Order: sequence, then C-alpha cells, then structure tokens
Amino acid sequence: MRAEAIFTGTELLLGQIVNTNAALLGQKLAAAGIDLYHQVTVGDNLERIAAAIKTARERADLIIVCGGLGPTEDDLSREALAIALGLPLEEDPEARTSIEAFFRSRRRPLLPANLKQALIPKGGRSLPNPYGTAPGVFLCHDGKYYALLPGPPHEFRPMLEEKLLPLLEALGAGQQVILSRVIKITGLGESAVEEMVRDLLHRDNPTLAPLARPSEVSLRITAKAPSPAAAQELISTLEKELFNRLGNHIFGTDEETLEGVVAGLLTGQGLTLAVAESCSGGLLAHRLTNIPGSSSFFLAGITAYANEAKEKLLGVEAGLLKKFGAVSEEVAVAMARGVRLATGSDIGVGITGIAGPAGGTPAKPVGLVYLAVDFRGKLTTRQEILNGEREIIKYRATQSALDMLWRALTGRKA
Ligand code: ATP
Ligand code: MG
Repeated sequence: MRAEAIFTGTELLLGQIVNTNAALLGQKLAAAGIDLYHQVTVGDNLERIAAAIKTARERADLIIVCGGLGPTEDDLSREALAIALGLPLEEDPEARTSIEAFFRSRRRPLLPANLKQALIPKGGRSLPNPYGTAPGVFLCHDGKYYALLPGPPHEFRPMLEEKLLPLLEALGAGQQVILSRVIKITGLGESAVEEMVRDLLHRDNPTLAPLARPSEVSLRITAKAPSPAAAQELISTLEKELFNRLGNHIFGTDEETLEGVVAGLLTGQGLTLAVAESCSGGLLAHRLTNIPGSSSFFLAGITAYANEAKEKLLGVEAGLLKKFGAVSEEVAVAMARGVRLATGSDIGVGITGIAGPAGGTPAKPVGLVYLAVDFRGKLTTRQEILNGEREIIKYRATQSALDMLWRALTGRKA
C-alpha cells in the first residue's frame, strides 16, 4: 500500500513549529510496511487542503491528513475532505456522545463549535480520541482510504499507534516490513565514502543511501521483505560488504555516537581520561560527560584558553608558547601530556586551534587545529584545517579528537 501524508497548519509553513508528526509518521509507516512516497504541507486554507487531497488520491491508496480537527475557524480538514470527495458532512452520533462525555468529565461547558467536531463525511466513521476533544476520521471511498488525525503531537501519536495502525493492519495494508540500519562512519568525508560504495548505491532492495552531518557520515541500509527476519537477512548481507570495504572507519550503528562508543571502550578497558582544551572550549569534556557512567573514566577537563592558563594549569612551558605559538603541534602535545600528568590519567588529550571568525593569518588560518593524544606516553598528533562557522569548527575539532581516541583504543589506522 502506498500512502501520502498531508500536514495542515500555517504555523508549519511559517517555520514556527517543527513538523515532529512527520518524523513519527514516517517511522511508523515504514515499520508497518507501508510505503510513504509523498509528504505535503498545506496552510489552513480550505481550497488548498481539498486540492492536496485530490492530488494525493491520484498517486496513493491511503491519504492521511494531520491537524485541523479542532473547533476553530481555521480547523478545516473535515470540510476539505468532504469537498474533495463530493460528500456531505453528517453528524456522527458516536462522536457526539464521546465529545459530550469528554467535556462532562472535565466539567467544561460544551460550546456549539465543539459539536462541529462530530461532523464527518458521509460513509466515514469516527475514531474516538481519549486524548483530546477531536475524534479522528476514517473513510473508505472509491477504493481509497482516508484518515484524519488530530495535530497536537500528544494526541497524534496515540491516535496513530492505537487507532489508525491497528485498523490498517486489519485491512492487510502492510504486507511487507521495511527495516533500516544506519552504519556510522568516522574519519572519512562524504565523497570519499561515496567513492568506496558507489557501485552499491542505486540498488533496489536493500537500498543504500549516504547521510552527512558535520564530521560524520553515515550509510543507511533499508530493506523491504515479507518478514522482519527476511529484512534483517537482506540488511546483514549488505552490512558485511560495507564492513569489508569501510571497516577501518565504522564505529557503530543506528543511535550510537562516537563519544558513546569511546566511553564504552574506555570503561571496558578500565582506562581513565583527562582533556585539555583551548579552542573547543570544553566541548569535548561536555560531549564525553553527557554519557551516563562517564565518571568511571573521565577524570578532568581543563579549558585553558589564555597562554597563562596553559602554563599554570597544564605546565606548558612559556618558551614553547613563544617559539611555536599557542596554536601549534608542540603546544597540543604539551597540553595532552600536562593534563595527563596533572591528573594521573592513562590518556590525555590536547586541542588548540583557531575557531574564528577573527584571529586567522595566512600561515595559521581560521579552522587550523592541532590535536594530540598522549596514551601513557605514546603520542599521536594531528593537524586539521576545518571549515564552517565558529561552533561548527569547535564541534569538528572534538569529533577529530574522538576519532583519534577511537583509533588509539581499537588499534585502527587513520
Ligand atoms: P486542536 O484541537 O488543538 O486545534 P487540531 O487537530 O485542529 O487540534 P491543529 O490545529 O492543526 O490540530 O494543530 C494544533 C497544534 O498541534 C498546533 O498548534 C501545533 O502546536 C501542533 N501541531 C499540529 N501539527 C503538527 C505537526 N505536524 N507537528 C508538530 N506539531 C503539530
Ligand atoms: Mg486546530
């Protein structure tokens, strides 16, 4: 079955709220094996909602309209569906009873406008809504299914999960399951990854698609099959091939994060860590301490911004700062070593660089970052020239440090 979703609400078009219902609906339909080919967003306008429904029924078997079921003037979805299908609106006795019960139980007066919510296009049925006043609507017309669901997310979610999806399942809508796995990659850019898997993209089942975020590339495998086991099987085969090609760069799957994986490795190996940060301003410490249980490995983070602080807190020699400058490999190394010795940790990390926008020179441009990892005296260093705005550069610097840590802990080469 092919579905199309129509999200109503001018506030969505104006960007005043984020369409979180869209993300949820996409996930739930995929898991139910229902293809979603289009998501459309329309303002609160009767003609345009009706037109969107007409367009959708040309290319989908199931049309889900989200929002616009409330009692106010700009709640138009019932009316729009009636217009699009040329059906009259009729009061549904069951819907009326449940609306009356809702108001009685909350001791709120029932206004005439609320009874508008009991109207549904002829031939449809209401989907009782225990989470709010507006019942949903389900309708089968000319071989197509139509569903109207309330917009507020705390109503949309349970109405989708508890009312609509079971109904669709009973109709045999999802003959197939669609499962995805995201393969997380570190230390390779988007185009490098694409180059290595080019022949695997543009396949039918499973499909493979790259996703890119700052300093992190992922590959999403999506398989469609009659059972979850069969979909898993398809995913595993392609996953193995990806590990063969990119194993040196794959740190995890799905919801795993690089800091989470590094934290797991440190905990598992019983090692402790301390970090000395300049340009990243404590972000590495922040990311690592976001991981529950980080106290078992994280000893300290020192944000040593000024040269004096680098000297006093980390023991970086004044002569070194003078000779090579604060942004240099030598200083990154001295910071990593200094924080390791000051805290007695197994591993020390040093990060120093220029986050911008000012402060760059031709020799030391904005985005230049030096990193060092001192693992019980064994050193690795790295020079990066990172792009992006200040916050992105800070983030990318910490991502690079985590990549170095991951490699130091797993023995993988860069
Ligand atoms: P109500 O009875 O509250 O009017 P409704 O079914 O008519 O509900 P809307 O009027 O379209 O729904 O939306 C009500 C509120 O729900 C919006 O102001 C917004 O906060 C939230 N909402 C609606 N659609 C979405 C969406 N797609 N994603 C996230 N939030 C949404
Ligand atoms: Mg509304």
